[in-house]
Amino acid sequence: MPATLSVAVAVLGAGPVGATFACLLAEAGVPTAVIDRAALPPMELPEFDGRAYAIARTSRDVLAEAGVWARLGSNPCPITRIRVSDGRPGERASPLTLTFDAPEAEVDAFGWMVEARHLRIALNAHLPRIPGLAVFAPARATLLQRDATGVGLRLDDGTTITAQLLVAAEGRESATRAAAGIPVTRWDYGQDAMVCAVRHDRPHEHVAIEHFLPAGPFAILPLPGEGGDRRTSAVVWTERRAEAERIWRLDPPRFARELRRRFGDHWGAVTPVGLRWRYPLGALLAHRYTDTRLALVGDAAHGIHPIAGQGLNLGFRDVGALGRLVIDAVRAGRDPGARDLLAAYQAERRPANLLMLAATDALDRLFSTDFAPLRLIRDLGLAAVDRMPGLKRVFMRTAMGFSPLGALRAA
Ligand SMILES: Cc1cc2nc3c(=O)[nH]c(=O)nc-3n(C[C@H](O)[C@H](O)[C@H](O)COP(=O)(O)OP(=O)(O)OC[C@H]3O[C@@H](n4cnc5c(N)ncnc54)[C@H](O)[C@@H]3O)c2cc1C
Repeated sequence: MPATLSVAVAVLGAGPVGATFACLLAEAGVPTAVIDRAALPPMELPEFDGRAYAIARTSRDVLAEAGVWARLGSNPCPITRIRVSDGRPGERASPLTLTFDAPEAEVDAFGWMVEARHLRIALNAHLPRIPGLAVFAPARATLLQRDATGVGLRLDDGTTITAQLLVAAEGRESATRAAAGIPVTRWDYGQDAMVCAVRHDRPHEHVAIEHFLPAGPFAILPLPGEGGDRRTSAVVWTERRAEAERIWRLDPPRFARELRRRFGDHWGAVTPVGLRWRYPLGALLAHRYTDTRLALVGDAAHGIHPIAGQGLNLGFRDVGALGRLVIDAVRAGRDPGARDLLAAYQAERRPANLLMLAATDALDRLFSTDFAPLRLIRDLGLAAVDRMPGLKRVFMRTAMGFSPLGALRAA
């Protein structure tokens, strides 16, 4: 006979955001089910996802509370310095290199680089071990009911799940968001991000570098490497789509030559290693984050340009905010799917996410151009940031995962 399961919260999507949310709730004793249409173990394979995430301090706290951070072992690679420069290395003598040092912000690290694969391995190891958490993957869920009285789902193996709250963490193409009639606005940046790992002669010393090139940002991000030798970095290389297409088709030696031209000589000789990936870049914002007994989290609610490495960090902040509201409600015997709880979640997260979306959009537009007046404005801006400790602190606190507004208030 098909099983019936009653939980407080059902989460659709066990990507980094949905899986972390499920762990956070279950760790706090909230009965939870998480369902993904894809099998989880293949997500651990090196060919599944080449991304490495810059995890901000606030996200580290959420992962720790969810019991996931401890399972990452020595993989997180601290970022202790961020260097930002306008233009290609050696292209023009630019005085406009900004450096942010962790001690200036009175912290040991701004954040940590974590490979997507390692985050997946940690999540997969943790999910089945938490009491009160039911994991269904691969599984297809059909919505039977979502109204004032509750939520009902049927899985393709016949299992029926009832819940008080449905959380959609299905990524940008969220079917649940579409079925709820929540409109989205999206736009295409006409850019692709190429992602790969590189080996270099000299150790990176935990420095993250971002070159703002006319076609888009070129980021060099420190990875722990085999045995922690600090000679491996991740590259996120943004180009306009046609140029990305051309570069993508190059054979490995020519691809390496193009990469070296942009990389500069920070770490000595550089060689791309392993696979390369390409992601089309676009932005997305959901007009609402909630509906009857429904909340959107992560990329289902917002998608931003990776220029500042903040997309997943916003998702983890959604997890922290909604998690706190749900855990408090369940502990107090209140309804975790109540309308006022969902309104509080939307009020806390949507304006903050919109602000980050606007900031990353403006950064991309300001820096991905060779238009002389804009180049002058941004160079003046960079110089101003460098001379104004208060403003510099705002940028540092934003990189650590505090909202730009919160960072402004604290400065
Ligand atoms: C090049 C690049 C670099 C980036 N770098 C960074 C960075 O440094 N730092 C950072 O913070 N962010 C970064 N990001 C953003 C980050 O990758 C995303 O924000 C993040 O992956 C979103 O996670 P998610 O769990 O919300 O969605 P997803 O990762 O899309 O996961 C969605 C999950 O839902 C499942 N699913 C989908 N539909 C259904 C359904 N109907 N039912 C059940 N399951 C379903 C899918 O199988 C999947 O497992 C980067 C993005 C790009 C493109």
